[in-house]
Amino acid sequence: MTLDRTAFFIDGTWAAPASSDLLQVISPHSEELVATVPEGAAADIDAAVAAARRAFDEGPWPQMSPEERIEVMASFSMLYAGKLAEMADVITAEMGSPTSFSNLAQAPASWMMLESFLNIARAFPWEEVRPAALGGDVIVRRESVGVVAAIPPWNVPQFTTISKVAPALLAGCTIVVKPAPETPLDSYLMAELLQEAGVPAGVVNIVAAGREVGEHLVAHPGIDKVAFTGSTAAGRKIAAVCGEQLKRVSLELGGKSAAIVLDDADLSATMEGLKFTALMNSGQACVAQTRILASRENYDAVVDALAETVSAMTVGDPMDPATEIGPLVAQRQQERVEKYIALGQEEGARVVVGGNGMPGGLDKGWYVRPTVFADVDNRMRIAQEEIFGPVLSVIPFDDVDDAIRIANDSEYGLAGTVWTADAAAGLDVARRVRTGTYGVNTYTMDFAAPFGGYKASGLGREFGPEGLSAYTELKSIYPSAPGI
Ligand code: NAD
Repeated sequence: MTLDRTAFFIDGTWAAPASSDLLQVISPHSEELVATVPEGAAADIDAAVAAARRAFDEGPWPQMSPEERIEVMASFSMLYAGKLAEMADVITAEMGSPTSFSNLAQAPASWMMLESFLNIARAFPWEEVRPAALGGDVIVRRESVGVVAAIPPWNVPQFTTISKVAPALLAGCTIVVKPAPETPLDSYLMAELLQEAGVPAGVVNIVAAGREVGEHLVAHPGIDKVAFTGSTAAGRKIAAVCGEQLKRVSLELGGKSAAIVLDDADLSATMEGLKFTALMNSGQACVAQTRILASRENYDAVVDALAETVSAMTVGDPMDPATEIGPLVAQRQQERVEKYIALGQEEGARVVVGGNGMPGGLDKGWYVRPTVFADVDNRMRIAQEEIFGPVLSVIPFDDVDDAIRIANDSEYGLAGTVWTADAAAGLDVARRVRTGTYGVNTYTMDFAAPFGGYKASGLGREFGPEGLSAYTELKSIYPSAPGI
């Protein structure tokens, strides 16, 4: 079965591209061509925005009741549930995520999020009547924000697409999705399911394209809100454009989260947990906890345990169910991570596992060796900058206050964990670290609760009722008072 596509999804049909330019999807494992798809140009974005604008301004989608939209989205969710294995395979093929991760977090978690948004929409206060301060009642409505531009990254492409498409559609918005050029295939598979579910023409439009065309979409006058997940650098540019145009914007950006290992933690359980929280998706995760904080007394024990754990992880073909760490998405990411590994050594950190060069047994593919650095100072660039690969830094602390200070000494504030036998002490640490999400002895996102970042990790929140609110405008209606 070919994964090639020859058209965009615009206005409910597969629409011919404006130009003959193609994006090549290359397997990060074999470096062979997986598929070609048309590369979006500004004219394709214009057509997609026009379709979304029409579908919003003329309906029927925004005029339907929340219950009617929920019914259509529930059909979509049912169809999505039947395609999880195919979706996981497509994502592994396009960006090299280990199939163990694709069949857990890439596809099934996207579906669970969709189901969770359906439940939230069922209980959402779309229109409420409040006692007015001046007497009588006031009506507070939550109405669709309008036409949304959704820009997801390549690392968790469906997860970050569903986190925008589901709440936007449930709120009655229409949407233009611009998938990253590395990962167009999963979105087009999603489009087939939306079409089959009976989502009206123009409500969802999908044009895969690169950064410049993304900029055109963000600045487009037909867009009311931008929902972006990606790097902090791109987020700043997008926020500047939205600020100038007073567009609504939500940004899910980078991270450099810390896992604090307290002395009473069960080290083997902690190491098992860190395999996921620090190295999920081959380290290509915004929430990856890549700074491991250990007390000076316990430092050598933590370094040794981490070295043993990471060196035992299975690196290789992402389609092999046993693989824990696959290739990076692109050669430029492999080069970027290798530069950071060299930089860490120049900065005086000590490689205890890994280092530059191909992992054993592999001679092609965009792999790096999972690497653990010891003797890291939190001011080093490897401790401050997002590397986005399987590279961990172990940083010593004096006491719990010092650990919290180090965890907070970052421009980012997305996630974090504490590992301890004392649940109350863990919660105390959780309350003091300035990040949008935090785990005690685990890191599992929950779709009922808001997700997002403090500081340079973003603006706004996804998931939970807050994630649905992000696609609404508030309107207060003062019903006519008797006698006026
Ligand atoms: P990126 O910022 O380079 O690209 C993300 C998307 O934005 C792509 O679709 C790209 O084509 C587009 N884009 C880039 N610049 C743009 C601009 N100026 N205007 C419009 N569109 C633009 O990021 P990436 O390398 O694809 O993804 C990795 C980054 O994403 C990491 O920093 C990671 O931490 C972050 N991320 C954050 C979250 C989160 O929820 N906070 C989740 C996943 C990834």
